[in-house]
Amino acid sequence: MLMSQLYAPTLRETPAEAELASHRYMLRAGLMRRSAAGIYTFLPLGLRVVRKVEAIIREEMNRIGGQEVLMPIVQPAELWQETGRWNDYGEEMFRLTDRHNRQFCLGPTHEELVTDLVRAEVRSYRQLPLRLYQIQNKYRDEIRPRFGLIRGREFIMKDMYSFDRDEAGLDESYWACYHAYERIFSRCGLDVRPVEADSGAIGGDVTHEFMVLADVGEAVVLYCSACDYAANVERAESGKVAQSEVPPKQLPMEEVATPGKTTIAEVTEFLGAAPQQCIKTMIYLADGEPVAALVRGDHELNEIKFQRVLGCASLELADTATIERVTGAPVGFAGPVGLRIPVVADHAATEVVNAVVGANKADYHIKNVNIGRDFQVTRTADIRVVVAGDPCPKCGAPLTSAYGIEVGQVFKLGTKYSAALKATFLDENGTEQPLIMGCYGIGVGRTVAAVIEQNHDEHGIAWPVAIAPYHVIVVPVTIKDEQQAKTAREIYEALQRADVEVVLDDRDERPGVKFKDADLIGFPIRITVGPKSLRKGMAEITLRKTGERMELPVDQITDYVVKTIKG
Ligand SMILES: [Zn+2]
Repeated sequence: MLMSQLYAPTLRETPAEAELASHRYMLRAGLMRRSAAGIYTFLPLGLRVVRKVEAIIREEMNRIGGQEVLMPIVQPAELWQETGRWNDYGEEMFRLTDRHNRQFCLGPTHEELVTDLVRAEVRSYRQLPLRLYQIQNKYRDEIRPRFGLIRGREFIMKDMYSFDRDEAGLDESYWACYHAYERIFSRCGLDVRPVEADSGAIGGDVTHEFMVLADVGEAVVLYCSACDYAANVERAESGKVAQSEVPPKQLPMEEVATPGKTTIAEVTEFLGAAPQQCIKTMIYLADGEPVAALVRGDHELNEIKFQRVLGCASLELADTATIERVTGAPVGFAGPVGLRIPVVADHAATEVVNAVVGANKADYHIKNVNIGRDFQVTRTADIRVVVAGDPCPKCGAPLTSAYGIEVGQVFKLGTKYSAALKATFLDENGTEQPLIMGCYGIGVGRTVAAVIEQNHDEHGIAWPVAIAPYHVIVVPVTIKDEQQAKTAREIYEALQRADVEVVLDDRDERPGVKFKDADLIGFPIRITVGPKSLRKGMAEITLRKTGERMELPVDQITDYVVKTIKG
C-alpha cells in the first residue's frame, strides 16, 4: 500500500470529546470516524485491525468446536415477549415497527434468537453438545455513549451459545470457552484478568468478566496481589475484618437530640463520634414491600448484592411517604430500634458495639445501641461496597482496586432461556429435558480499544504485531532523491514478495511529518532510507514499541523483518 493512496486521514489536534487514549488515537490515527453519538465508521486501517482480532477469535472458537452462524440483527418482538425481556430491557433496546405494524428490535444480544433456532431442530441428546457462535453488530441505546468503542450504541461482538444435556456438560463448555478467551486476549497482546462478576439482566448464576486493568475505565475491579482473587465491584466480597479480642463493655442506650442533623457527616461531627461507630439505616422497597438495610457509617450499601440477598425482582429506595410511615419520623432519622419491617444487616454493621443510630423520631438519634440487646435483624449478609484495603475473602491480604475495561464475559445460563422458550431434548431414557445453556461474549471493538489502552505512548499507538494494521512502513527521508526513492521501493517490493504487510510512504512531505504519522498509526517496524546509511548500503530499522534502532545492509532487511514478525 502506498501512503499517498491510503485513506487514513490523521489529525494533529486531539478531538475534544475523547477522554481515553484509545478513543483519541483511533480518531487521530485515522482508524475510525464518528457518524452519530456512539456510532462509528471503521476506516481501512481500523477495519484491518478489527478483521485480525476477528480472525484470532474464529480460530480459537473453531478450536473448541464452535460452529459459526450469522443470525439477523432485526429480531421479532414475539420471541422477546416469550422470555419477558421485551419489557425488562427497557429503554436500552432499539425498537422498530414494520409497515404491517409488527414490532421488532435491533438485537442487543441473541439468546432468544439462538434458542428459537435450536428448539426447532435439536431433538435428541445425540445432537449435543452444540456450540454456535457469530460475529456481528449489536445495538444498545446507551443513555450516555462514551469512550469511543468502549461504550458505543452499535458495536461488533462475538457471541457464542452452548447447549448441553446436563450441568457437567455446561461446565465443560464454560471452561473450554474461558480458556479459549485467555488464549484470544493473550494473542491480541492484552494483559487481562478474569474476575468474578454479577450476572445482571442476562440471568444465570456463574459468570466471569475478562477485564483489562487501565488508569481509566468504566468498571471498578477489586483484586488481591497475594492470591488470584479478583471481582468487579458489584460482586466483590470482603473477608472478615479482625475484631479487638476484648469487645468494649455495652453501655446503656441513650437518646440524644440531633436537631436537623440527618447525614452521617453531620451526626458524627455534632456528636463527636467516628463514622465507623454509626450504623446507617436505609429503607428500600423490594417488589413494593418495605425492607431496611443496615451498613456501618463509613460503608456504602451495594444495591446489587442487597437485591441478590433479597431475591427480589425490583429494588428501589423508598419514597418519603413510605419512610415516614414505617419509621414514624422524617427522612434522616431512621434506625433499627423498634422498626417493624424486615431488617438486613451487613456483617460489619453487626459488629459495632455501642453504635449511634437514628431514633425513628424527628431530630433524635440513639447512642450505645447494641445488636441482640436493643434490636434484632432478620438476616445478616454481605451487602456493602468493598473498597481497596478491605481483606481478601480468600486469603485476608488487603485488596487493591483499579479501573477495568470489560472485553469479554462468560455466563452459565442454565435453563433460564430454554425453560422460557421450551427448548428441550429427549435423554437416553426418552424423557424430555430442558437444554442447559451458556453464553459467551467478546466485544471486538472494545478489544481493539483495550489493546490501544495498554499499548500506546505520547506519540501514538504501538500495535502488537499480531493485530497491527500493517507490519512495516518504509520511509524514504526525501522522496525526491532518486537513490532513496529507488532503494525504498526495492525494500517495499521485496517485503511484499515475502508476504509482509507493508506501506511505502511515497508522499512528498518533510521527514518529521512522515515520522510523526508512522508513530501515531503505530507500525511495529519503521524502515528509514536516508542519505547517511544509504552511502554504506544500509537502511535504519526502528522498533515502535521499544524505540530500539539499528542499521542493516539493505539486502538483509527482508530476512530480519520476517524473523521479527514471526518471532
Ligand atoms: Zn487473596
